[in-house]
Amino acid sequence: MSTTYKTPMLQQYQSLKEQYPDCLLFFRLGDFYELFGDDAKIGSEVLHLTLTSRNKGSDGRIPMCGVPFHASENYVARLVKAGYKVAICEQMTAAGKGLVEREVIRVVTAGTLLRDEALTEAGSQFILTLVIEPKLVAGAAADLSTGQFMAFSFPGPPEQIIPLLLSHFSPREVVIPRAVYDNSDYTSLLRRERNVNITCAHDWLIYIKDAETILKNHFHVESLDSFGLTKKPEAIKGAAALLGYLKYTQKGNVEHITSISEFHLSGHLVLDPITLRHLEVIRTAEGTTDGSLFGTINKTVTASGQRLLQDWLLHPVTKKKEIELRHQAITELVSRNELVAKSREELAHLSDVERLVARLSVGLGSPRDLRRLADTLSHYKDRVLPLFSGVKSRRLQDMTTPIHPDLMSWITQAQAILFEEAKPTLDEGYIFKEGFNEELDTLRLLTSGNRSWLADFEAQERRRTGIPKLKVVFSRAFGYAIEITNSFKDKAPPDYVPRQTLVNAGRYTCQSLVEYERKALSAMDTMIALEKTLFAEEVEKVVQLSQKISDTAYAIASLDVLTNFAHIASLYKYSKPNITERVGIEITAGRHPVIEQLHHESFVANDTELKPNKSFQLITGPNMAGKSTYIRQVALIVLLAHTGCFVPAESAEIGITDRIFTRIGAHDNLREAQSTFMVEMLETAHILHNATERSLVILDEVGRGTSPEDGFSLAWAIAESLASDNRGLILFATHFHDLKDIANTHSRVFNSHLAVAVDNEDLIFLRKVTDGPAVDSYGIVVAEKAGIPKAIIARAKELSYGSSSPTEQIPEMSLRGTKSRGNPDRDAPLAMTNQMALLSVEQKPSEIEAKLKQLNLNNMTPIEALNILNELQKNLR
Ligand code: ADP
Ligand code: MG
Repeated sequence: MSTTYKTPMLQQYQSLKEQYPDCLLFFRLGDFYELFGDDAKIGSEVLHLTLTSRNKGSDGRIPMCGVPFHASENYVARLVKAGYKVAICEQMTAAGKGLVEREVIRVVTAGTLLRDEALTEAGSQFILTLVIEPKLVAGAAADLSTGQFMAFSFPGPPEQIIPLLLSHFSPREVVIPRAVYDNSDYTSLLRRERNVNITCAHDWLIYIKDAETILKNHFHVESLDSFGLTKKPEAIKGAAALLGYLKYTQKGNVEHITSISEFHLSGHLVLDPITLRHLEVIRTAEGTTDGSLFGTINKTVTASGQRLLQDWLLHPVTKKKEIELRHQAITELVSRNELVAKSREELAHLSDVERLVARLSVGLGSPRDLRRLADTLSHYKDRVLPLFSGVKSRRLQDMTTPIHPDLMSWITQAQAILFEEAKPTLDEGYIFKEGFNEELDTLRLLTSGNRSWLADFEAQERRRTGIPKLKVVFSRAFGYAIEITNSFKDKAPPDYVPRQTLVNAGRYTCQSLVEYERKALSAMDTMIALEKTLFAEEVEKVVQLSQKISDTAYAIASLDVLTNFAHIASLYKYSKPNITERVGIEITAGRHPVIEQLHHESFVANDTELKPNKSFQLITGPNMAGKSTYIRQVALIVLLAHTGCFVPAESAEIGITDRIFTRIGAHDNLREAQSTFMVEMLETAHILHNATERSLVILDEVGRGTSPEDGFSLAWAIAESLASDNRGLILFATHFHDLKDIANTHSRVFNSHLAVAVDNEDLIFLRKVTDGPAVDSYGIVVAEKAGIPKAIIARAKELSYGSSSPTEQIPEMSLRGTKSRGNPDRDAPLAMTNQMALLSVEQKPSEIEAKLKQLNLNNMTPIEALNILNELQKNLR
């Protein structure tokens, strides 16, 4: 802002604004936060507030808008979600004479938004710092609301590593140094994922100066060895920068971040963003949770359980031991229905411990938060833990160890001193129960408790004035007053000073009442200040205990997810997969976890066997036969097996898998519609470079979207290069059934198809994966089922039976309009156009066509039309 203000308050505003130039400044003014100038214009637009103006003294009119302070969280969250940063400026001294002191107490950014509004969406809220170099990506990630903090360093090209990091963390905010910010190659990589706010950290160099010392001091360690970071200078810089940025936004309050862990991509089954999208792991292509894998298997009952389940789905593990520990727990739980039901019922009562601790740690916690934390932990101890006594599996035992004694005594103490119905703010006092602090009790007596003084005073004044109905009243605006009804007004003694006139009464004050009021009000201020100090001490105890609390929070989340897995295993009839170090997948009667819930009884289960020498399954069959469903079901079963969850199959043996790749034909992937031969081959090369023998590769209708000839060559080229490269387990679904011949030249390739039966020219999908290639693409029959007008079908049949080539020549048909919820394919009209082109070959019109042409539809009743249709159809049969 270039203007220089003259009034002291606006000068104060301006100097604060200059310190936070990239933020909207929420300037506390009494019961409101006000925005001024350009900030006000933005605020009024984004928040739909009325833009007013402030006209004060010599400064002229300044645009202004405001929000009530008690409802500010919601407004702040909305601004931040719209991409702004908000600096919260508070009044640090009570209003009185002269200028109130003001300070920015917190900067709210996308990655540091803590309040509940932002948490309606489950999932972690990571904020990332990135150090990007041509052959390396390093940095750190933190979830401020849980205190999780990780650092990493990966050698390799940024264009490969960045998408993996973004997909792993789904960060809300990425903080980068100027040099990275100015490099458009890097920023465009970052912008590819939606929802990422990019922040250029102006103080980056200050944050990373003495990076190592900063970290050692914060984490109270002598060396960074234990964190595994000694030889990773870029990771150390990234971590120091992140800590610096968080301290800047939280004004220092980040004590609940108590340790760094090194983040590896290797312990996990890697799922890149494309794969997550195609497999609809967390969300469907339409963006809904319903219909995704997560939406189907999520029956968790706590917020932290829901987050952990997402985390397990996004980061399945590749350690056999870990998976088996989870399996043992689930097996035990499956055999104990009662325990599962009971514990889920009790877990559902728990508040979100991680979030409570985080809010308290960064200084946003209320008395209510503190009380809830104590109550939740105590409920967990009294009602949840006892249920699990005597469990046999190690994971369940580990997750149900007693609460640490220090934490126990804190819980007991907190419950003893805090009111049950604790207040959501600090501003009204009455946080602690009577008997906790003597000074506090005395002050309380002076403020409201001292009713006896007021009663005595009232009685005394009635006697003195002889006014029987005289009473002492209190109002927020005017304080204490003596009220006398109009009929007694002239009896008011001369020492009464009029204060306020009502319709039928007058209000007065007098010397002794003024004195009382002054004492009571200052006692109120003193009391609130004292309670705030005492509250801060109680919060500090929580911060000291935060590591122990977070252990308990993790146990709660784990119990929720494990019981969830046991619950759905029974509900959906899942079975325990066998995890092996051998390469290969063997599934008996596997089902698609999402689609089977839509079809219930009618879902057809299928077997799968992929092994090193038969590792490439080529799946053909007409459109709608079930190819896409089948290959996705295999991928989802493999994914689920790596989370420790049981799987939708009669039995399964799953080799540890390091990565799932997917490649889906352009039609199914509209966002990347510029699919050309080049792009597709580059993507294939990417798979060839990165796949190992332990990778699972899913290819669905590659080559679709180009012309049929190009598409076929493309599919062939891709299939052939993958088949020649002897790595990865590959499921290749295509409607180009001539690809079957690749099996003749490549021994790892084997053909299968989705069986269909033709009954009286009607096509019946059997949904059964069967050995050998498909014999016919059944294009016309499929089209007929899809409701393509009869005349066109008839003409198509004429053409195809009339010509020497079989129906196979007719390219794939679009099946738009067929109800296929959960079908990931997005058929585009192009295939249809091909078909139409084929149909419009110049030829003498058929008898039927001639008849159709002659009809005068305007003169016909519906019945007549039906009769003619009936006749035409008879002619065809
Ligand atoms: P394709 O990829 O061969 O065109 P899809 O896999 O998209 O076929 O399947 C089409 C529809 O058929 C799906 O939306 C689903 O409703 C149904 N379907 C697929 N597989 C099965 C199955 N095994 N059992 C029952 N219905 C299935
Ligand atoms: Mg398909």
